[in-house]
Amino acid sequence: MPDWNNISSVLLDMDGTLLDLKFDSHFWQEYVPERYAFSRGLDIPTAKQLLAPTFKKHEGTLNWYCLDFWSQELELDIVEMKKDVAHLIAIKTGALEFLKRLRQRGKRCTLVTNAHPHSLALKLEHTRLDNHLDHIISAHELGLPKEDPGFWAELQSVEPFTPHQTLLVDDNLNALRSAQQFGIKHLLAACYPDSKRERQHTDEFAYFHEFDEITPASFPTS
Ligand SMILES: [Mg+2]
Repeated sequence: MPDWNNISSVLLDMDGTLLDLKFDSHFWQEYVPERYAFSRGLDIPTAKQLLAPTFKKHEGTLNWYCLDFWSQELELDIVEMKKDVAHLIAIKTGALEFLKRLRQRGKRCTLVTNAHPHSLALKLEHTRLDNHLDHIISAHELGLPKEDPGFWAELQSVEPFTPHQTLLVDDNLNALRSAQQFGIKHLLAACYPDSKRERQHTDEFAYFHEFDEITPASFPTS
């Protein structure tokens, strides 16, 4: 359980943390290769083979999360394609209750995501997560991904927070590492970003499986 009495701000990741990563996994690993194969007259395994090094090259950069970049690179309408599989967008069990409880306890809740604004808009439309958050920030507004240690200082200019009273909840270990390097004191890793896949292991950070393990009590306990 996080040290709730000493936490005033909570920074929350979206994909793989509040939302099930199965949408994104399916989109990038199945649907994009399928459409790429169709548009080029290839079979799907060949398309996957061709796409793998391109994906690898941009992993962890802002381009990786940029729908305009991929639309251009793959010559596919990525924004429209996301809408085709939008029925897979799902809030994780207990995530809304967790947010409600945090705000009841007076914690400021900020969504901090690497997701592109179009992707973010689609997910908010389908989940209405915005009703449970104080502020929403896409890394694209700041020009750096969360994996970059410079990101957190940029974030402070639009969302002031005190690093030793701040908790980051994220499934991206590189984002947690860069936040730690910046001085954010409370860090929590999501073990099950994707309900369809195996758990991810981390000994580096405190972690949780289900939100009920980390949801604070309604009233402070001493
Ligand atoms: Mg994530």
